[in-house]
Amino acid sequence: MKKKLLILCVDGLDSNKVNKLNLKMKYNLKLLIPNNCCIYENGVYIPHTFTIWKSIFSKKTNKDVRLFINKSILSKFDDLLHRIGNMLKDKNMNKYPFTFPIYIKEKNILKEYNSINWNIPTISIDYIYYLYDWQDFKKYCLHEYNLFKTFAFGSMLSVFDVIAIYTRIIDVYEHIHIDTENIYKEIFLIANELSKKVNVLLISDHATNEEGEHLKYSYFGSNIPIKGNSILDIKENIKEYLENGEYQ
Ligand SMILES: [Zn+2]
Repeated sequence: MKKKLLILCVDGLDSNKVNKLNLKMKYNLKLLIPNNCCIYENGVYIPHTFTIWKSIFSKKTNKDVRLFINKSILSKFDDLLHRIGNMLKDKNMNKYPFTFPIYIKEKNILKEYNSINWNIPTISIDYIYYLYDWQDFKKYCLHEYNLFKTFAFGSMLSVFDVIAIYTRIIDVYEHIHIDTENIYKEIFLIANELSKKVNVLLISDHATNEEGEHLKYSYFGSNIPIKGNSILDIKENIKEYLENGEYQ
């Protein structure tokens, strides 16, 4: 009987904080973020969420992804749209007029298998970028996180062999200085409990510290053996397992 593969994508999960809280999966790696998955600002390379998620799953090189992101309306007009959005904000509804999907229509490794993905930036057609203020966004993130958990719990009943899902709650909560310790504990509880029924990969794109800064390393954990030094090695692990891995 084949075991399904559940890929939990958690934005901003910090492997140092994972250690500090004594959390772990059976196998745990701290991965590096290459410079070409970062935005270069004021002499510093800052990990870029959209580039990294695309690079993790795409067969394209990260350079191609950066090219797309650089050309996109997002990178050129983000600040301008944010300002206009604030001006046009519906005072009664407390809503901003600009929300749009970030989806790059290119092949990715998940498409080569019997898979479903939900809410992963640039990979999932249903991922929505919000121009928001952080406080308003908190409610949406909690709702998104509850959906994430529901999808995770349902993975063992899924008709798909691979289920890949995403939450941005840790990254957003760190940006608005909400304590994330309980979320960390719950995510590891879910990952470890579910790994009794399905195989689980727990992936972050970069660490986000308590000041909301993106740091140049990420966490990669699993109940099955994994290897690699950089986030660009993750897709080889997925491929290796799905093609040659021991299904139980
Ligand atoms: Zn991120």
